[in-house]
Amino acid sequence: MNNYEGLKEFKIEIPKSVKLIINVLEENGFEAFAVGGCVRDTILGRNPQDWDITTSALPEQVKALFNRTIDTGIQHGTVTVMIKRVGYEVTTYRVDGEYNDGRHPDSVEFTSNLIEDLKRRDFTINAMAYNPTVGLIDAFDGIGDIERKLIKCVGVAEERFGEDALRILRAVRFSAQLGFEIENDTMKAIEKLAPTLEKISAERIRVEMEKLIVSNHPDKLITAYKSGITKVIFPEFDKMMECPQNTPYHKYNVGEHTIKVMENVENTKEMRWAALLHDIGKPQAITYDKKDPERMHFYGHAHVGAEIAQKIMRRLKMDNKTIKFVTRLVYCHDDRPVQYEKSPVNVRISVHNIGKDIYDKYLELVYADFQGKSDYGKEKGFDGYLYVKKQYEEIVENDICTSKKELKITGKDLIAIGCPKGEIIGDILENLLKKVLDNPKLNQKEILKDIAGTMF
Ligand code: ATP
Ligand code: MG
Repeated sequence: MNNYEGLKEFKIEIPKSVKLIINVLEENGFEAFAVGGCVRDTILGRNPQDWDITTSALPEQVKALFNRTIDTGIQHGTVTVMIKRVGYEVTTYRVDGEYNDGRHPDSVEFTSNLIEDLKRRDFTINAMAYNPTVGLIDAFDGIGDIERKLIKCVGVAEERFGEDALRILRAVRFSAQLGFEIENDTMKAIEKLAPTLEKISAERIRVEMEKLIVSNHPDKLITAYKSGITKVIFPEFDKMMECPQNTPYHKYNVGEHTIKVMENVENTKEMRWAALLHDIGKPQAITYDKKDPERMHFYGHAHVGAEIAQKIMRRLKMDNKTIKFVTRLVYCHDDRPVQYEKSPVNVRISVHNIGKDIYDKYLELVYADFQGKSDYGKEKGFDGYLYVKKQYEEIVENDICTSKKELKITGKDLIAIGCPKGEIIGDILENLLKKVLDNPKLNQKEILKDIAGTMF
């Protein structure tokens, strides 16, 4: 039934449900294999995100064999089979027709030959298939490239990138996720065809970029820069790479510094975006010192940066929640609450301004920012950071009020003691908050009522 010579020595652990799907298809006279990312990741000892199955059965035949299926992309041959509430994409062996737009094939055709299906896949490490009885099908030496730690196109790289330009970015993304290098011919084709990424939709670009920046190797952004990729999809990054920092605080250019900061924040998409964009305003904020014309300043870069960051994230069609969070962090990342005076009041005011909800993230970004500076930059101000962190922890521990909604008095209370309705209520609460930030002990209902009584 299966006509392939598989490598039997490869035994891959596959989930029961995947085995079940393969068995059902085989019992009904079809071929079926786990394929692509799940095979690659299992061989690498990584946890696959999802399990895809490739089969000789046509979509209608797949649907007839399983109780619960979803027509995910039936025109491309994909049916999702649901087993115990988990979905498995089962796709009919296919060959892609002509690509005329550099994004997708004009048509797809089903085939009965597994190797034909594997040929259309992007990289050798992604073009392996596995079946428990046949073993591993590795027609393009994916195993060899895993051993050599290489990202290499299946077939002629230029042709493959010409078909779908997104593969150019995927190459760098996989190299970042796996810590692999990009094979020479593949790299040359990337450099040649990087401009064609312009045809790819913002959503698809964002998905790949996000995978790249949350990976263990955000430094591969430099590869994307050197090969001309960021010039097309993220030109603001090129400006950072081309922006030196002639100040005693720094030893890297803005782009290299940015990478260091990314490496030092947690690997969530929110924090990696915040780190990536935190200094995006610097190239536009350059001024030169009056006394020492070699020396640069970047006054106000955080606030300009917040605007630029927001534009970039909108362009990449990111969700509003992430855009808002990242924009806020970019805006405040350069705040130094105790630069002139170490006092708890200054920290409380800062927590009020920045927001308790994101203050721990602000501190994480500030910490990472120091890791990307010169020793001089680290000495200057790091003790201030430690002071702020400690004060912030006390604020959290003792539930200290830093916002209007944490005041022990409300607008209703004010009306009850005779305050007129209207805007004045907000103003009074604002004034009460100022006093409480100055002296947290005042945050008691009776005391606040007394103070408020003198305000209207
Ligand atoms: P991830 O772990 O991010 O899911 P993956 O390798 O599974 O990585 P997917 O985008 O889920 O990537 O695609 C599954 C498989 O489909 C790939 O392994 C590859 O064989 C093939 N594939 C996906 N996108 C492309 C593409 N643009 N061009 C060619 N083949 C592709
Ligand atoms: Mg996948």
